[in-house]
Amino acid sequence: MQLYNSLSHKKEEFIPREPGKVSMYTCGPTVYHYAHIGNLRSYIMEDILEKYLRFTGLDVKRVMNITDVGHLTSDGDTGDDKMLKGAKREHKTVMEIAKFYTDAFFDDCRKLNIKRPDVVVPATTYIDEFIRVISSLIEKGFAYEAGGNIYFDTSKLDKYYVFNDFKEEDLAVGVREGVEEDANKRNKADFVLWFTKSKFDDQELKWESPWGVGYPGWHIECSCISMKNLGDYLDIHCGGIDNAFPHHTNEIAQSEAYLGHKWCNYWFHVLHLNTNSGKMSKSKGEFLTVSLLEEKGYDPLVYRFFCLLSHYRKSLVFTWENLDNAVTAFNKLIEKAAPLTKEAAGDIDKEEYDRLYKGFTDALDNDLNTSLAITALYDVLKSKANASTKLALLGEFDKVLGLDIIRKAEEKAASVQDTASDIPAEVLELAEQRKAARKEKNFALADELRDKIAALGYEIKETRQGTEINKL
Ligand code: AMP
Ligand code: ZN
Repeated sequence: MQLYNSLSHKKEEFIPREPGKVSMYTCGPTVYHYAHIGNLRSYIMEDILEKYLRFTGLDVKRVMNITDVGHLTSDGDTGDDKMLKGAKREHKTVMEIAKFYTDAFFDDCRKLNIKRPDVVVPATTYIDEFIRVISSLIEKGFAYEAGGNIYFDTSKLDKYYVFNDFKEEDLAVGVREGVEEDANKRNKADFVLWFTKSKFDDQELKWESPWGVGYPGWHIECSCISMKNLGDYLDIHCGGIDNAFPHHTNEIAQSEAYLGHKWCNYWFHVLHLNTNSGKMSKSKGEFLTVSLLEEKGYDPLVYRFFCLLSHYRKSLVFTWENLDNAVTAFNKLIEKAAPLTKEAAGDIDKEEYDRLYKGFTDALDNDLNTSLAITALYDVLKSKANASTKLALLGEFDKVLGLDIIRKAEEKAASVQDTASDIPAEVLELAEQRKAARKEKNFALADELRDKIAALGYEIKETRQGTEINKL
């Protein structure tokens, strides 16, 4: 499989260190609020990557942290702790907030068919581990104490800015607009490993450490949680593109300084979901969540489908119109698949199966090209293969795509049958007339027809998935 590696800035053959096994790490959510659908784009694409690696026969162990302490509003070392902000907003304790939004995150994941990673570690459960690694970094001369905090000394590295060719001055935290310089830092790019109470007097979560009572920086959390669970060598590390700097850059700095060798071979970054007004964020604009999609009548899996229609390395613009287009395409796909669930019988046509299967794996082998993988799915539906072959392929592809295609196709087939058998022809005819009236925006007539349908004992409802007719 060819994958783009942010570290080498090119597509490379993905070769795990140990044949047949993959160690995979994902930056988890900061649980101070609901995940927005932008965050979830990253998790959907990472889920596809994990599932595809498994699909090709690799044994994947995937680890994710839950950031419940240490992530400041700036992503660097300034601003409030996001968790404290969340707790204040809701008049709850940090741990209450963390539990609530961790559960909410995994609820969203379940609705989007995102598999839970094999190991999930809340940062607050690993404090001893952070202290151990920070102590070692001090011992090795890569970290220093200043003003009560422990900092990583980036001047000790041969190369700090590993992901990009930007000018150092543009990226250094100390000179970014609106961020004041921390006088304790020896170099502008240095970052905090451990904060003491000298930084935030109201920090609710704090622990004893050799350097005073305090709490860990966000970056050290991921390095430690990964190394502890996946060992000294990591195959692949994932996250949204905003994590590349400073977060992942700092993870590499710490981990490699601690280990004394290269740590992670492949870096997989998902580009952002944007709105028309720019990057989606929790602090500005409409806060788009899975629950909001559901409230508006969208099936969360339609959002997953919408994400798959674009390549993970292109930023994606979210508009309701774009989502509606995805609904239409998804419904068509399910409608085409529905009859297959009734017809499937007979032997699988091996030649057609292999040809169509190859279309799918070729797409994903090419830097996880999910939109071409969806085209491969349409190719199956359009092909001359028999229903058994088509159904078998859809089932296989869906192990990676996670769209519940077979279940939805079966439900669709059942509902078509119900409609055909149970609902009187007169009602179906009125429903057709109503559909035409709505299309012409003749809502008065549409209402009249709905009343006529009701008088015959049926209720008609428009959903995003189409028209539903039920007995009253
Ligand atoms: P956070 O909860 O802020 O730590 O972010 C969780 C994940 O979502 C990280 O991998 C981020 O890089 C990613 N992320 C943040 N904003 C977006 C966005 N607009 N589109 C896609 N991914 C995002
Ligand atoms: Zn991380």
